[in-house]
Amino acid sequence: KAPLVMIPGPTPVAEPVRQAMAVQTYGHNYSGFVEIYRECLSGLKTIFQADHMVVIGGSGTLAMEMTLINTVKAGQDLLVVSHGAFGDRFAAIAKVLGINADVLSCPPGSRVPLAEIEKALASKRYAAMTLTHVDTSTGVLAQAKEVGELAKKYDVLYILDGVCASAGVPEPMKDYGIDVIVTTCQKAFGTPPGLTMIAFNEKAAARRDELGTVPGYYTDWKNWMPIMENPSLYISTPPVNHIVALNEAVKLILAEGLEARYARHERIGRSFRAGLAALGLETVTEKEALAPTLSVVKYPPNVDDAAFRAKVEENGVFIAGALGPLKGKAFRVGHMGIIGMDEIAITLTAIERALTALGVQVTPGAAVGAAWQEWDSVR
Ligand code: PMP
Repeated sequence: KAPLVMIPGPTPVAEPVRQAMAVQTYGHNYSGFVEIYRECLSGLKTIFQADHMVVIGGSGTLAMEMTLINTVKAGQDLLVVSHGAFGDRFAAIAKVLGINADVLSCPPGSRVPLAEIEKALASKRYAAMTLTHVDTSTGVLAQAKEVGELAKKYDVLYILDGVCASAGVPEPMKDYGIDVIVTTCQKAFGTPPGLTMIAFNEKAAARRDELGTVPGYYTDWKNWMPIMENPSLYISTPPVNHIVALNEAVKLILAEGLEARYARHERIGRSFRAGLAALGLETVTEKEALAPTLSVVKYPPNVDDAAFRAKVEENGVFIAGALGPLKGKAFRVGHMGIIGMDEIAITLTAIERALTALGVQVTPGAAVGAAWQEWDSVR
């Protein structure tokens, strides 16, 4: 049996979503499927307050690349606010597209101060700025709303990477002043990996128009926008089963209710970290920047990364190593999508048993007890 998947994406998939993935495939222009595609896009527009939604085969990285292609021209300036490896990825994509990226970064686990972002915005007229809502390499939750106020003040197109946040952390585009959200389906949406999802407003659509020809065909929003309005049209075959599955996930999200869902993620994150604290473990992430969707956790002295994760896996749970400068120094656990206290308890038990096996002194059962205590403290 494969271990419980507790990495920060892909995440476990709910039964109705799995069943939807397994339907006999439909013709992409069959009326029944066209209806499902429409329903899915409409549900996503509700979740994000989006004017436009593009959902096609791909991944989060394709959503990032596609967005830069459709909003910034080669030679223009892009401000990248980076809280880790995924923030930096925007700069890497900008480079191959010939876009000049100025990167604001900070030590792993902290946030770029708002004053620094404002200073940069005041210093130059940027074509766009990017922010990673939750940087999955450091566990940092960005100040998406406050940055939205700055974007408005300096009239810069604001692109938010929602990959490790969407459907787990609020992202109301209109309320926050976000122009584009790039995201995907395998994290808090709880759908198997394979989709590029982009939410954008009229301002971003107008920007695409201003650019004229863009260096992409599959990646050109303008080729997809008519299909998103009328999915019986064709430019490239959509991943039919994936869209059927995502539609089920979106229905589950809307049935749970956005406020309830975001509150559940917050509560799960806090409960998991209460469990970690009972094991003497600390996060890499500063307290005020902790993401509800994942935790990036420092190893105690003398605990080997590979040995620890192998022991956790022996205990039935699959977690992730850290990236970049944190590699070998921390591990990462995702707690988003359909994750509940059952999975948190199993994961904390596996972590506790791995630490014990590697000679770290811990009190058996303390982590699970502390997690439940935190969970129960919110009523
Ligand atoms: N942005 C963030 C914040 C991510 O966590 C990831 C994936 N871990 C990506 C972008 C890239 O997504 P994908 O792996 O689907 O290309």
